[in-house]
Order: sequence, then C-alpha cells, then structure tokens
Amino acid sequence: MTDTVKHMKWWGWGNEGVGFHHEDKPGFAPFVEKAVGLDLGSATRASEPSFEDVDVPASRASEGFVRELTAIVGGEHVTTDDMVRVIHTYGKGLRDLVRIRGNQILRSPDVVVYPADEAQVQRVVDAAVAVDAVIIPFGGGSNIAGSLEPLPAETRTVVSLDLGRLREVVDIDADSGLARVQAGAQGPDLEAQLNAKGWTIGHFPDSFTHSTVGGWVATRSTGMQSDKYGDIADIARGLRVVRPGDVLVLRPLPSTSSGPSVREMILGSEGRLGVITEVTVQVHRIPEKRNIYAYFFPTWEAGVAAMQAISESDASPSITRISDARETAFTLATSKKRSGFSKFTAETALPKIMSSKGWDLDTICLSFIGYEGGVAHAKHQKKLVDAIVKKHGGMGVGEGPGLLYDQKKFDTPYLRDFLLDMGAAGDVSETAAPWSRLNQVHDAVYEAAHKAYAEIGVTGWIMSHLSHSYHSGACLYFTFAFVFQDDPLTEYDTVKSAIQQAFVDNHATISHHHGVGREHSAWLEQDISPEGVKVMTALFEGADPGAHFNPNKVV
Ligand code: FAD
Repeated sequence: MTDTVKHMKWWGWGNEGVGFHHEDKPGFAPFVEKAVGLDLGSATRASEPSFEDVDVPASRASEGFVRELTAIVGGEHVTTDDMVRVIHTYGKGLRDLVRIRGNQILRSPDVVVYPADEAQVQRVVDAAVAVDAVIIPFGGGSNIAGSLEPLPAETRTVVSLDLGRLREVVDIDADSGLARVQAGAQGPDLEAQLNAKGWTIGHFPDSFTHSTVGGWVATRSTGMQSDKYGDIADIARGLRVVRPGDVLVLRPLPSTSSGPSVREMILGSEGRLGVITEVTVQVHRIPEKRNIYAYFFPTWEAGVAAMQAISESDASPSITRISDARETAFTLATSKKRSGFSKFTAETALPKIMSSKGWDLDTICLSFIGYEGGVAHAKHQKKLVDAIVKKHGGMGVGEGPGLLYDQKKFDTPYLRDFLLDMGAAGDVSETAAPWSRLNQVHDAVYEAAHKAYAEIGVTGWIMSHLSHSYHSGACLYFTFAFVFQDDPLTEYDTVKSAIQQAFVDNHATISHHHGVGREHSAWLEQDISPEGVKVMTALFEGADPGAHFNPNKVV
C-alpha cells in the first residue's frame, strides 16, 4: 500500500499521538462540570479504540477488477486492506466518530485506489464505470456532513478514489495571481509550496491541516480569512473534472457570462459530478502585515451591530468574528494558566475596567478582527474599525488574545475526541442569514437546543460566534455539548435536528460551509424549495445517469 499518503487516525481527528489535554487549563474542568454536569475528576476516560474490536465488512471487489486497477496505478497504490477501507468509510462528523467507536460499519469501500495523475484518474473512472462500480472521491476525509460513506444498501463495488498523490502546485501565473493546483494538495502542503514563491491562497478553514483543495471545492468550504480572500467559491476560478470518457475543463476566468455557471455546479457537488483533479485558485502576495486584534463588547447585540457596521463601512478587515457571551465565557475559562502581568491584566485589570464602565461581566462578548496587507493599509483599516467599535460601546484589548487564538485554532478539533472519551457529545452546526435575521436565528437556535436537551433530560450547553461577514449578512456558528444518556445517536439527532430546523424556520440556510452530504439533506427542500431540489436532482441524474459518482449525497 502507498506510504506516501498520510491519513488521520482511523477513529478520530488529526495525527496519531496528538490529543486534547486540559491539565494546563485550570478553568476547564470546573467549566465542563457547570456546563454539562460532567465531573472530569471522577469520570473514567475510555481507552483508545482498538481496531481489533471493529468488524469490517468484507471487500466485494472482484479479483479481476483489482487486477485492472493494479495495472493502472501499480500494486502499491491499490488496496483492499481493512484498516485503509475503514479510514475511507466516514468523514469526521460526530455521527461518524460515534459509529466508528461503536463498531457500526455496515458498508465500507471495497477497494481504495491512489492514482498518480489525471490520466490515471481517467483510467480508474473509466474502468469503474465499465464494471458498473461506484466511485467516491476522497480528499482529506475531514467532512462532517456525511459526504463520504457508501450506503449499506449499495450492492455494486465501491471504489474510494483517494487524491492524496496529486498534491503539486503545477504552475503560477504571476501576472494574474492564479495558481494551478492538483486537487489532492492538503492545506499545509499547498501553502508551503505557495509561500516558497511569495504567495498565499488565503484560505484557512479550521480543518486546514487535514483537508484538500478538491475537498474544499466539493464542499464549498470557507476559511477564517474569507472577509478578505472570499470563500472557496470565489477563490476557485478554473477546474478540471474527470468524468466518464473525458475531462470537463473550465478555464480560469475573472468572470464570464457563458450561461448558467458550470463552475458553480461543481462547487458543492460533493463528488457527484466527477473527480476534480485540478483547481486554478486565486493567490495573493504574502501580506507585509498580518495582525489579529481582540475587542470586547458589553453585549452580543452591540457586537453584532458593530460587525454589520464594519461590513458596510470602507474598512475591509480579513476577519470579523465575535463570540456570544457563552462562547466568551468558554474561551476565558479554557485559557491556559496565566502568570505575572498577563494574569493581572486578564483577571484583575480588565474586569475592573469593564465594571467601571457599567458592563455586566456575564454578558461581555469577545471579538477578533484581522487586518492584512501593506503596513499603511493595515493601520488605516484598524483606525476605521476602532472608530466603529468605539461607536458601538466596545473596547480594544490589543494583540495578545488574537495571537493565542491564531496559534491554538488548529488544536481545538481534538477536543471532540476527548469529550467522546468521557461519554459526551461536542459538535457544531453553522448557518448564514441576512443581518436583519441574525439575532432572531441566534435566539431561536438557543431555544430549540434547550428544548431538545429537556426532551432528553440532560443539562446541555450551546454557544455561538459570528464570523464570515458579507454585505447582506453573516455566518453564525453554534457549538453544542451534552453528556450521552442511553442512546447516543438518537440523542444527538434530537439536538442536531432541532438546531437545523430552527435554521430553516428562521430564514437561515442549512449550512454556510460544511455542505449537505447525508447529514443535512433532509432540510434541503425547505432551504432551496421543492423546485430547487428538482433542478438539482435533474442535474445529478442527467450528468450521471448510471449513478456512478458518490450517489445519494446532497439529494
Ligand atoms: P473529504 O472529506 O475527503 O470529502 C468531502 C466531500 O468532497 C466528499 O463528498 C468527497 O467525495 C468530495 N471530494 C473530495 N475531494 C474531491 C475531489 N477531488 N473531487 C470530487 N469530489 C471530491 N469546513 C470549512 O469549510 N471551514 C472550516 O473552518 C472547517 N472546519 C472544520 C473543522 C473540523 C474539526 C472538521 C472535522 C471539519 C471542518 N470543516 C470545515 C469541514 C471539512 O474540513 C470541509 O468540508 C473540507 O472542505 C473537506 O475537505 P476534504 O479534503 O477533507 O474532503
């Protein structure tokens, strides 16, 4: 089997040997006890899952088909190994992790193949279609929308087509700020190649370390700095997509009026329209200056109003993010142990200043705003934002917290596995809505989640932040947690469904950047209307009449 493609742990997020620890965060355990009633001191932590406890469905790939794939990619790049098939079965959603820990794998890909280039992808696709097999493209396996799993009822051979060997930046058109990138490049690999030539993509999702360019396009991903660089839908200009018999080629154009956008059809298609092999992305010169400043607001409403005012102003920050009071409390409680001046500032001086302003420390909201570009540009942006913050009753507290946020953002995903070890769920749901609806959505989701917690009979936690601002609205990102009772997935469904339903009931979308997969498809009709679903279904059925590409995802 190929050893050039590195995968995440088969049972959880990220790299082997890396995990979440709270011993250096004195406020964490008391916070968890208060929030979800879990006493970390007395609870027993489950040991790491053992692969021996997993029953992997036998591969149904015929010897002849495996031989054919081997002739295309070479023996070391095709495998029916159980562990590799399990790694390619699910993404990293909560449902995925619970099922994998609970030995619930009803269907796995029958064979995993790692082509070296587009020509090999084409031959693999054609060979699979010829034997009526199903092809599921695999990037980093980081999706949390149930976008990868083969359905238990699938009787055909399922091929997981892993793009992990296609990870080169092929070419940079410096005049246009465009880079041709192979679709399997993961974030760090891509950025290292671009940075070496003085460029950056500016796309940094929280899953950056383990997700790929092709996966970003296939799920319509958004990165933290989207206010400046755009979502992947803005960044991805050109595409090459392998389909049965030929490659769909979309040249990189700044804009075009050539009918309904096929580029937009590929964006968010979750593998249903073919295998993306190359993406031409907008790239930018590495900015001279990159700062993230922290601000506090007395209330959520004041903070959201400030974010809206920033979006309407001449300021163009790279990040506008504000946590609600609950997420702020979580962030403050889970900071690392402080000492000296930083301890005095955070624990004595700041609360004193806030109290002297008449602020209620239980309602304060922490915001991060990022500035990028030339020194004078970044300075000017900050000046504009500072004035808006002041007008909305907020105050700046410098760069320190922003630096910490920037450093630890890629570590946070490990927390979910820790909670699962302790018998608790920690998951997210995110949406976008017009500015005029944001507070309504925020409150409705809280109400729905608490109702769901009451139904299950648990003390549950929910918190939120606003990020990714647009002219007409923004993304709201909710994190929820509770201790499992008797039936983890039913309980999870109760909470998750309540939140998703609250989105559509309050003029918000089912997902701002995680996609649809199987997880959100039940709400698609309410999101885009029955006619919208008809058009989408017609697209998938028309473009893939044999249902060879990742069937039953999205619709
Ligand atoms: P995969 O998970 O491998 O695949 C996802 C879907 O895309 C599947 O349907 C697959 O078939 C299809 N696909 C993958 N590659 C191709 C290809 N080359 N051609 C055709 N189809 C393909 N998302 C964000 O947008 N922003 C975030 O900040 C963010 N943070 C996250 C944090 C955590 C902890 C986790 C677990 C997930 C997060 N996600 C985030 C979700 C996830 O990382 C994204 O959906 C990501 O874009 C998936 O990329 P991937 O390469 O891992 O794709």
